[in-house]
Amino acid sequence: MKRRAFLQLLGSGSLALGSVGRLLAANSGPGLHHWAWTRVLEDEKRSVWQRRFADFREAGVSSLLLGGATEEACRLAAAEGLQVHAWTWTMCRGGAELLTNHPQWFVVNRNGVSASDNPPYVPYYHFLCPSRPEVRQYLIEEFSRIAAAEGLTGVHLDYIRYPDVILPRALWEKYGLVQNEELPAFDYCYCEACRDQFKSLAGQDIEDIADPTQDESWRHYRWNSITTLVNQLSKTIRDQNKMITAAVFPSPTIARRLVRQDWSKWNLDAVLPMVYQNFYEEDIAWIKASVQEGVQSLPAGRPLYAGLFLSSFKDEGKFEQAVVAALEGGARGISLFGGVRHLKS
Ligand SMILES: [Zn+2]
Repeated sequence: MKRRAFLQLLGSGSLALGSVGRLLAANSGPGLHHWAWTRVLEDEKRSVWQRRFADFREAGVSSLLLGGATEEACRLAAAEGLQVHAWTWTMCRGGAELLTNHPQWFVVNRNGVSASDNPPYVPYYHFLCPSRPEVRQYLIEEFSRIAAAEGLTGVHLDYIRYPDVILPRALWEKYGLVQNEELPAFDYCYCEACRDQFKSLAGQDIEDIADPTQDESWRHYRWNSITTLVNQLSKTIRDQNKMITAAVFPSPTIARRLVRQDWSKWNLDAVLPMVYQNFYEEDIAWIKASVQEGVQSLPAGRPLYAGLFLSSFKDEGKFEQAVVAALEGGARGISLFGGVRHLKS
């Protein structure tokens, strides 16, 4: 489809998913693949699911990162020609069973406060400690179970990280914070297991380091802790013949600094950085630069799909610029976030 034709299709209305999708479809081609984060609820009518899947298909999306990805949902999505990846929160998971029976599995900040009963920022920020063998075993079993579902193409890891030691810039005012440095209340994890492991690896006690925020080996320890866990989960998921993908922070530099994700080292089949320019008070050019940095950091041939936050675009023109910027940066496609409420169903 020619550019003029698809712009005519868009009309001048709001940024509805249908129009976004037509634009996306127009930016499709050999080797490109588009995704969307969405979910289905058990108590919704199945006709609502079907309509949602059909809308995404029509929008040029080929793969859904689907919350509530049951075997029934996979069947109905497949009927629309869509692949389904089970969208799963990884480290951030509360739940009465874990919080009650395993409070020691949760991360502890530099003040000694546990996220089991005092989560940072928001009430649901109960993050598990990625260094603990019992947490890893628990997650391996969880993901083995999830990956076994018939009809799934893959499993998609979200919240595969530490709590934000530094929030994206646009959120500082919301929380009344100035985070030019790593503040102790948001700096994790100083649990006993982490301190013991670091001591045996690095030969020093983290408590003896005057400024742990500036310590390279302590920083690397935490990057490696998440990386090791991801690579264990990768094996678990691939053993079930499923793909593994992850939602990550926008560029390798930002991801390491804000949430300790060293994602270019992860054994993934594809990576989906959330290149949400408005969270960082950035513009369209930043999308391209972030994508480029990500693509260059990855092993050759590993696809990167750029997550775009639909609500951050005031009109189709801006969204189109973002799509083009991401593709020019080397993304192999786009992943839509935030379009669910625009759906016609
Ligand atoms: Zn820990």
